[in-house]
Amino acid sequence: MKELGAKGEKLTSEALFDALQTKKNVQDIFGEFEQSKKKLQEIKLKETQRMEEYEKQLEKIRSQKDKLIRQLDEVETVNADASTFYNRTLLTLTEMVKSEDNKELNDSINEFKKMIKKGVRIDVLKDSFQQMKKSAMGMGETAQAKDPEKSKSRFPLPKFLQTDSPEGSKKQLEITYLNLFRETFQEIINELGLELGEDYLKRLERIGKKIRDAENIDEFETLRRDILSLIQEYIERVCTEREKAAKLIADVINRLSAVESYFSDSRQYVADTRNANAEFGRDLASHMDDLKNHVEFSKTLEELRDAVVDKLHAIMVAIKDKSSQDKVREKNAEKQVEDLVQTLNQLKQEVITAQNRAKVLEQELLKDPLTGAYNRRAYEKSMHNELHRYLRYQRTFSVLLFDVDHFKIINDKYGHTVGDKCLKEIILRAGRVLRENDVLARFGGEEFIALLPETELKGANEVAEKLRKAIENIEFVHREEIIKITVSIGLTQVSPEDSEINTLFDRMDMAMYEAKKAGRNRVVVK
Ligand code: GH3
Ligand code: MG
Ligand code: MG
Repeated sequence: MKELGAKGEKLTSEALFDALQTKKNVQDIFGEFEQSKKKLQEIKLKETQRMEEYEKQLEKIRSQKDKLIRQLDEVETVNADASTFYNRTLLTLTEMVKSEDNKELNDSINEFKKMIKKGVRIDVLKDSFQQMKKSAMGMGETAQAKDPEKSKSRFPLPKFLQTDSPEGSKKQLEITYLNLFRETFQEIINELGLELGEDYLKRLERIGKKIRDAENIDEFETLRRDILSLIQEYIERVCTEREKAAKLIADVINRLSAVESYFSDSRQYVADTRNANAEFGRDLASHMDDLKNHVEFSKTLEELRDAVVDKLHAIMVAIKDKSSQDKVREKNAEKQVEDLVQTLNQLKQEVITAQNRAKVLEQELLKDPLTGAYNRRAYEKSMHNELHRYLRYQRTFSVLLFDVDHFKIINDKYGHTVGDKCLKEIILRAGRVLRENDVLARFGGEEFIALLPETELKGANEVAEKLRKAIENIEFVHREEIIKITVSIGLTQVSPEDSEINTLFDRMDMAMYEAKKAGRNRVVVK
């Protein structure tokens, strides 16, 4: 700035910049700056390149990872397929080695199969396999306890399913296992002898020949693959057929069970039929067993179907037979029921008649045959009841006794028959005066008693008076002569002192006696 001032130049930023550029130290600073800039650019470039490199590597790793995952998926699929295949093969093979006379083997096979189906861990499966192998070799716990000859397996496991070798010399083992292999493979081949087409049969034949010709164990190793593929085909084709057959059988069994339960439910009412049902049930069960056996042992579906048709026919015959037997039984039972109903009706009728007759007899027992009034027995019974009611519930009643006046004279004058007629007429007229509930009874001879429930003395007196008048008014005509009759009446009402009939009766009798004494044809109240 001093220089510029000395030169007399204007002090502007441009003039100042130009002047500075001529100075050496300023030039150096600029140089350094430029170099630093260059270096920075180089570093940036290198970084970018490195980043690109990294990205490339990352991409590569990613694609490798994807590839590995794909491979892993493939391996898993292959593994699952293989595992399914081996499981199915094992299930079939183990089923084949079942033996009728080795229960232990069968049990351990069933256990082993269960574990396969459950999909247990391989070490658990191995243990179970060992157990099965021991049973198959007759080395199981129960087998060892038995007769060694009997417990010897009919169908030992093939060697390729074994994980270790039993003890013994190699040579001997080889001979033993060679025979074992031959037998086992031949058995498998025999089992696989289903009619599954010509190609299949040819393959089967070829393998069979190789087995027979095999002279050392290693040859069996080469046969293994062939046999396994044969087994796979067998499993696939046979399983479908058996499943169909099993479904068919299950349908048939369900339908037959429904029919059977219908028969047993609707025919339970006679013991005879129950027994027949039990027998029928046993027949049916045996047919079912036969059917199941056919499912187990039949070689072809056609054979199986024939068996089903045969058995179905047998079952249908059994049902038809049972049905017709049941119909006969049902008819007999119906006839028996009809007879029984008829007998019961007759019996019922007889009982009703007897009851009616008893009622009549009872009435007769309580009635006086001449007048139709109740007799002394009936009077005593009614009197007893009324007194009881009074003592317990204070239900009052009155009672009156009447005696025909000078009846002896009537008898003497007109005879007993006329006397009887008079008595009858007296009762007829007395009945009209009394209420429905009143009890009119002949106490004896020409003495009568009327028992009036729920009647006070006052009312009873009115009744007695009415009665007296009614009898007084009777005009008996005999041979144009009018016979007049009167009665003397003694009346009383029950009172707290009457703990027995006698006191009541005595009072009433006394009253009647007083009526006689007082001139007859009157009522005396006591
Ligand atoms: P009163 O009672 O007024 O003193 O005189 P009464 O003549 O009725 O005397 P009593 O009672 O002693 O006689 C009753 C008679 O009634 C005696 C008997 O011949 C008669 N008699 C009793 N029962 C019957 C019967 O069933 N039929 C007939 N016709 N007479 C009977
Ligand atoms: Mg008398
Ligand atoms: Mg009398």
